[in-house]
Amino acid sequence: MAFQASHIPPDTLGDLGRSVSAEESDDSMSVEAPFTGERIGDVPACSPRDVTAAVSRARTARTEWSSWSIERRADVLSRFHDLVLDRQAELLDVMVLESGKARRDGYEEILDVATNARYYAARAEEFLRPRRRDGAIPLATKTMEYRTPVGVVGVITPWNYPLTLAVSDAIPALLAGNTVVLKPAEETPFTALLAAKLLREAGLPEDAFRVVTGWGDEVGLALIDAVDFVNFTGSTETGRTVAERAGKNLVKCSLELGGKNPMLVLDDADVSAAVEGAIRGCFTNAGQLCLSFERLYVQDGVYDRFLPRFVERTRELSMDPSFDYDVEVGSLVSERQFEKVRNHVDDAVSKGATAVVGGNARPDVGPYFFEPTILTGVTEEMTVAREETFGPVVAVTRFSDDEDGIALANDSDRGLNASVWTTDSDRGWEIARQIDCGTVGINDPYHAIWASVDSPMGGMKDSGIGRRHGREGIRKYTESQTVAEQRFASVAPPRRVPTKWYARAMTGVMRLFKRIEEGW
Ligand code: ADP
Repeated sequence: MAFQASHIPPDTLGDLGRSVSAEESDDSMSVEAPFTGERIGDVPACSPRDVTAAVSRARTARTEWSSWSIERRADVLSRFHDLVLDRQAELLDVMVLESGKARRDGYEEILDVATNARYYAARAEEFLRPRRRDGAIPLATKTMEYRTPVGVVGVITPWNYPLTLAVSDAIPALLAGNTVVLKPAEETPFTALLAAKLLREAGLPEDAFRVVTGWGDEVGLALIDAVDFVNFTGSTETGRTVAERAGKNLVKCSLELGGKNPMLVLDDADVSAAVEGAIRGCFTNAGQLCLSFERLYVQDGVYDRFLPRFVERTRELSMDPSFDYDVEVGSLVSERQFEKVRNHVDDAVSKGATAVVGGNARPDVGPYFFEPTILTGVTEEMTVAREETFGPVVAVTRFSDDEDGIALANDSDRGLNASVWTTDSDRGWEIARQIDCGTVGINDPYHAIWASVDSPMGGMKDSGIGRRHGREGIRKYTESQTVAEQRFASVAPPRRVPTKWYARAMTGVMRLFKRIEEGW
């Protein structure tokens, strides 16, 4: 076998699996290494009653955790930041082992988690502190807005970014005083369990972050029924089920769902930079990235220079089932994902598209490896035209003027991420603002928007509800409470004044307020 995971101490996976308490269920589920298809360990398949028990322990833990000052909670997350950096080799080995990703793609997760831990540890107090608000009657009404934690937050995550998605959304939830129960994807539970272990080592009370492993439709739905807020990342299809269930329970949810993301290369783009951007934007994590580009639109003036270089660079990408940093493209995560990618490519080619590079499975490298693939001639009747492939496959299409490019980019029911490449900054910003996506990078595929954690990130249209990052990314885990004290001059009509007089006087006051507001 070509790989060895040298930083994972012996039996770490077994210990992690046993750390999930599943008192009601004896069932287990096995986890495989996508590089080889071999089984690497088992975790419990929790029952709905196990989930309820985990949530109830988290609910009990909340009383103590939320009584800590924000500074004390921030200290825990700050120690976690250090632990993630110190123990990155171990985390990366587990991530690569169970997801089959290239190590360099895993390292982005280390950076992301450390960034979010640092950012929210430093800023949570500012985002959540009680704020004085304008009272109903100036001076007479004292009004305060408070932020109270929602309670227990359920986090449901997919397999493509097993560390980032398990932890980065939990960090603000914890800092806001909530406790968290995480349901990781069936394919990648060990990374989440290792992260939970590190959180405990950083000083988090044990029940403040619990992990329940198991099947999505059983554990996931039981979790939604038990918690006070649901943070879901995954497919649009499952997101609808989650939102429906949360809606029925009148529980708030935040959903980051799939994309069919466009990248626009304008005729004045720096071609080398755009080619490198397309390589990163289309093939990072073997295209299993919600932000990655599956539609690449190239303007006439640059198309003939861009495409051959993009093809050449794609052909050079290395694929290897190795734990080393030099691998550029890793494996797909599972047979199911592999079949989906192969079907999309086969369907497109059988209907007339051309795979100008790639297009083939690589069983010689590993069971789920698939070549980075560039398609041209993609038309509406092909599945790949509108459905998310979630693999290393991109359709390249040419366009003439800017309006056409914008219309093509917006011709999708998804609206997660986009990118515009141009040497004219003003043109880039102008086009970016016309694209219906929650994030748009200019001369950058996704790193700039993702790592700008002070600004919200999420999807428009069918790509989601709610946002992560920034102020919104922590305040969503709180309920607002307004407390207003009327100190004198009642807002309601005084008892002895006839309502007719009151109405006349108040109408005058309303006019006065508006004039004051407008600066006379
Ligand atoms: P994928 O199809 O790529 O695996 P999903 O959106 O189905 O992505 O899965 C994302 C997460 O949602 C996983 O943790 C999965 O177990 C969970 N899940 C799947 N089905 C449901 C469901 N019906 N309710 C709640 N969670 C679910």
